[in-house]
Amino acid sequence: MEAVFGIDLGTTNSCIATIGADGLPEVIKNLDDEYTTPSVVFYDEGDEYYVGKEAKSGMTVEVERIVAFIKREMSNTNYHREIDGKRITPVEVSALILKKVVDDANEQRSYEGLPPVKKAVITVPAYFGNMECELTKQAGKIAGLEVLDLLNEPTAAALSYGTKGLEGKTFMIYDLGGGTFDVSIMKMKNGILDTLATNGDHHLGGVDWDIALLDYVLMKNGFDVTYEDIKNERDAGKMLLAAESCKKNLSKSDKASFKLVYKRKQYVTEVSRAVFEELTADLLEKTIDIINHAIRLSREANPKIDEVILVGGSSYMPMVKERLQKEFSCPIRLDNLEPDRAVAKGAALHAASLVGEKRTKVQIGTDLASRSYGVKCFSRDGFYVANVIKRTDDLVYEGSHKFYTSNPDQKAATIAIYENISEQDTLDINKCTLIEEKDLRWGFPVPESTQVDVYVSRSSDSTVRIWGECQGKRVDFVIQYKGMYSDEEIEKLKTELESKRV
Ligand code: ADP
Ligand code: MG
Repeated sequence: MEAVFGIDLGTTNSCIATIGADGLPEVIKNLDDEYTTPSVVFYDEGDEYYVGKEAKSGMTVEVERIVAFIKREMSNTNYHREIDGKRITPVEVSALILKKVVDDANEQRSYEGLPPVKKAVITVPAYFGNMECELTKQAGKIAGLEVLDLLNEPTAAALSYGTKGLEGKTFMIYDLGGGTFDVSIMKMKNGILDTLATNGDHHLGGVDWDIALLDYVLMKNGFDVTYEDIKNERDAGKMLLAAESCKKNLSKSDKASFKLVYKRKQYVTEVSRAVFEELTADLLEKTIDIINHAIRLSREANPKIDEVILVGGSSYMPMVKERLQKEFSCPIRLDNLEPDRAVAKGAALHAASLVGEKRTKVQIGTDLASRSYGVKCFSRDGFYVANVIKRTDDLVYEGSHKFYTSNPDQKAATIAIYENISEQDTLDINKCTLIEEKDLRWGFPVPESTQVDVYVSRSSDSTVRIWGECQGKRVDFVIQYKGMYSDEEIEKLKTELESKRV
């Protein structure tokens, strides 16, 4: 079979999988002999960089040369970091991370005489909009990949479970990673996988557990500071790594020691799992609130959850399964105790299907959109946005709305389209991003409150078309994103990167 790959380009860790000789998905280890690679880049002097474990350990020395959690900035096209006077964008950082996992995999594969990585499916969070998706594709191209498709992370996780045990069930994918929490409610019927709801918090993840633990240890040793107060100090990076290491040990044992180094002194503190769980109970509770909100958002009212599937490295913490078991009486599954690898494996299965080598019986059915769109309206209280298509509407959708002119003798109306993530009918304009504004002109005065129709459609590839009509005139919007870079720029960045070993 043709070699195809699935890459989980994670906020904290990335992972690559392929289909093994036995036809099953398998994760390819990196050169550190680990299944996942930290999504961290260290920019050294002289245009050199390190990615992964080595870069993460650099957190203990030069924080200003480290880029981590870059995926959170993908939606922010103005975001960049400046290191040694060079502007670095989230797309470039993502390309370096992809190149690292691919280069490592290629080295492992070359020992076995296997062909290098070329065709891949890259996963993206369910909340990524068209723009972030396009940028992820561009990062893949810059890394030298042929991006077969992008796949939503929860869909990928569900694929890695297959039809086994999930057929006929409504289930929840609970994904607690390093910096983000995502939940999806899905349903599998006759092998077809439908998404009923997604929700999440993109600033809630394992690192918050690390910080809570670190703050406790600082306090225990008589320091009147929190991580927030000292995060720019030299010792901060090392402290956070010590916290993560202690936290991971607490997933295995009832007790672990925390080695804090502060101002050149070492302090060893014994922490019990019970104390750690108490310190972080409120964080876990936040995930429960988000789950309950997802249930309320479901396209099928009051879904009965038959199974919960735990994904993401933070699901290794025993408190997660225990708490969920209290919330739901159904089975709570932890995939062979490998929650941080399920997404990459599912992506490899999808990649195989795309080249005509079906390795899964599951078919991807209805997905959900990730964005809502509305038009700017005026009321006595000022401007607001009225959504004309919501993220919770069916993905393939057609609809129309009536609006009315607000002034006497209007000869035209301005239609302004705003993007947002709300599922409400109307919302505060400050919570929305302006996409495009156009004038609809009919050229003669009409009385106040003349009807203006706004039509909307969304196709299965998430392209949204909106058009306004009044007095026989029409104005059209097509919401489609181009990435940040032109094809020529991508080629140039790709060639630059090819010559480098990261
Ligand atoms: P992401 O999806 O955010 O890229 P992962 O799913 O790999 O990341 O999750 C990373 C998080 O999982 C980190 O916060 C890490 O500390 C945590 N983690 C990994 N292994 C364990 C473990 N054994 N116990 C507790 N937390 C863990
Ligand atoms: Mg993840």
